[in-house]
Amino acid sequence: MTSLPFLLSPPPPRSLHHRRRRRLFSSPSCPRSRTPLLAMASSSPRPPQELRQGIADFYDQSSGLWEQIWGDHMHHGFYDSDADDVSLSLSNHRSAQIRMIEESLRFASLLGPESKRPKRIVDVGCGIGGSSRYLARKFAAQCCGITLSPVQAQRANALAASEGLSDLVSFQVADALQQPFPDAEFDLVWSMESGEHMPDKPKFVKELARVAAPGATIIIVTWCHRDLTPSEDSLNPGEKELLQKICDAYFLPAWCSAADYVRLLRSLSLQTGKYLSENLR
Ligand code: SAH
Repeated sequence: MTSLPFLLSPPPPRSLHHRRRRRLFSSPSCPRSRTPLLAMASSSPRPPQELRQGIADFYDQSSGLWEQIWGDHMHHGFYDSDADDVSLSLSNHRSAQIRMIEESLRFASLLGPESKRPKRIVDVGCGIGGSSRYLARKFAAQCCGITLSPVQAQRANALAASEGLSDLVSFQVADALQQPFPDAEFDLVWSMESGEHMPDKPKFVKELARVAAPGATIIIVTWCHRDLTPSEDSLNPGEKELLQKICDAYFLPAWCSAADYVRLLRSLSLQTGKYLSENLR
């Protein structure tokens, strides 16, 4: 499996450790195409409204506890196997979460001296706004975060105010599949470990592309299952069973692979990052 998170007994912090993440980057460069999009079936799909409410309740109830343990971020850490300190201390996990943000930016070529500095950012599935505050500070950018959880949105706004960032960042309850923003609004579209919650991946990707300005960068860090081989049309029964347990624990719909995401992005005429272009065809 690719990027399979570890499971812990409830309530499982999302910020567990896993080294290999698939990061997906793309840039809108051409008009959107009308290529038919992939359809991905779930074994036992929850109705969309039930799923949305389940996700909102899940984060309403658990975010306070996760914040106590993990701080600002509800995503995995990036663990560098070459680094000297690979201890599993809490402070090391928190640094690894920041490293995940930095590595994602580096991977998307947003850290070089000549790189464009994003000025308008959307944080899709923002949790309590850790990425937004980090990115707003780093780039002196405006950042809008959306989440399904009213508790998270409120907490994110309170943290922004307490850190003197209310002029730069703001948070609201909204659905990533129907974002409350005009077309072409942002030059960085950021989705850190929220895509796995989206029941309609084509719509999710289309909506990310819609709000991205021409030449913008879209960063998706998400949980994916392994790519299928040409002779397979689905995962094997053992893999499906394991994924179903994770889906049940985290309010997740059906998963897809990184290659599926690349196909979706390309169907919208988006350019995918160098790594993806070379490794996923
Ligand atoms: N990106 C944050 C939080 C990750 S947790 C971080 O790295 O800390 C997943 C987040 O996705 C939660 O905030 C959840 O509310 C949000 N989410 C899930 N489905 C969503 C949807 N359809 N629309 C908006 N947000 C969604």
